[in-house]
Amino acid sequence: MDAGLKRELEAKVYAGERLTREDGVALYESDDLTWLGRLAHHKRTELNGERVMFNVNRHLNLTNVCSASCAYCSFQRKPGEKDAYTMRIDEAVRKAKEMEDEQLTELHIVNGLHPTLPWRYYPKVLRELKAALPNVKLKCFTATEVQWFEKISGLSADEILDELMDAGLESLTGGGAEIFDWEVRQHIVDHACHWEDWSRIHALAHSKGMKTPATMLYGHIEEPRHRVDHVLRLRELQDETGGFAVFIPLRYQHDFVDSADGKIRNRIQARTTMASPAESLKTFAVSRLLFDNVPHLKNFWVMHGLSVAQLSLNFGVDDLDGSVVEYKITHDADSYGTPNTMHRDDLLHLIWDAGFQPVERDTRYNVVREYDKAPSLAERRAEPQQVWA
Ligand code: SF4
Repeated sequence: MDAGLKRELEAKVYAGERLTREDGVALYESDDLTWLGRLAHHKRTELNGERVMFNVNRHLNLTNVCSASCAYCSFQRKPGEKDAYTMRIDEAVRKAKEMEDEQLTELHIVNGLHPTLPWRYYPKVLRELKAALPNVKLKCFTATEVQWFEKISGLSADEILDELMDAGLESLTGGGAEIFDWEVRQHIVDHACHWEDWSRIHALAHSKGMKTPATMLYGHIEEPRHRVDHVLRLRELQDETGGFAVFIPLRYQHDFVDSADGKIRNRIQARTTMASPAESLKTFAVSRLLFDNVPHLKNFWVMHGLSVAQLSLNFGVDDLDGSVVEYKITHDADSYGTPNTMHRDDLLHLIWDAGFQPVERDTRYNVVREYDKAPSLAERRAEPQQVWA
C-alpha cells in the first residue's frame, strides 16, 4: 500500500469516520500487521478500554445428525452412521449439570438439522434445561436451525421465537452465516438459509429484544473482498436494528481427525489451505475497523489456538469465548493440540498475561464480575511464564 493511502486510512480511523468497501479491501491488501494492529487497537480501546470480557459457558450439541452436507463440515452425520448421535433430554440436562460447580452462566446449543426429530423436542429441551439450571442463560440455535424449524413445524419464525423465548431462550447463536456472497456460498453451504433468511431471522430476534452474535467463516475459498462484503451487510443491518452484540470471525479448519469410519467429510480441503495466524490477526483487525457499530469482537479461541487468541487482544478483540467444554463442531477437526476446555482461572491468567483486565460477562454482555487490572510487565516477568499452546 502506498504511503499516501496509508495516511488517508489512518486519518479516517483516528477521526472516527466510517470506512468504505474499498477501504476494507485496501486494508486486507496491507501486510503491515503492526500498523493494522495499531489501528484496530485504537478502535478497540475507544470502545472497550483495556477490558477483555469472557464468560463461563458450556457448549452442547444435541445431535450431529444433519440433513445437509455443507462442504466444510466435519461434524454432520447421516442417520444410521456409526457415530451419529441424538441426545435424550435427560442426557442433555445431565451434561449441562456437570458444570454446575463452575458457576456456569451460559449454555450454547447448536445442532445438525435432524430429519425426523419433531419440532416439539426443542422447546421441551429448553424448558427442562431451564428448570434444572434456572440461573443459566440459554443461547441456542442458529438462524439456519430456526429456518429448519419453520420447515418441520409449519410455524412462522415469529411463532417459533415466541415459543422458544417462552421456554427460556435468551439469544440465538451467530452461526450459519459462513460467507454471505453467493459466489462463495454456493460452493460451501448445503442448507437453505442464505442472507435473506439469516438476516430476516436475526432482525426478528432483535425486534423481540434479543441481542445476537454474528459470525463469519473465513480462510477457505473466499477472497478478502468477500469478507468485506460480509461485514458490510452486517454493518448495514446493525444500523437498522442495533441488535448485534458481537462479531465473531471463525477460522475454517481442515478435517484431520480419523473418525470411527475413517471418512474425511470436509469436501473443500483439497482446494484450500487454512488461514495462517498472521491472516487471522489481520482478519480480526480489519473486522474491528470495518464493523464500527458492533460493540464487541470475539475470538472463539478453540478455533485459533490460545497463542493467537492472546495476540488477537492487540488486534481488536475484546471478548474471549469461553470455558468451552466438548466443543465438537470444528474441534472434531483440530489436530494442533488446542484444548477444548479452559476453566475460569485459566482464562483469567491468559488475559492478565497479555496485559489486559478480565471482566466476566453474561450472555447479554452485562458485567458479572470485574477482576483486577493486569499486573505490570515487570511483575509478570518476575513469575514463571505460562506458555499458551
Ligand atoms: S454446518 Fe450445520 S447445517 Fe451444514 S452440514 Fe454441518 S451441521 Fe449440517
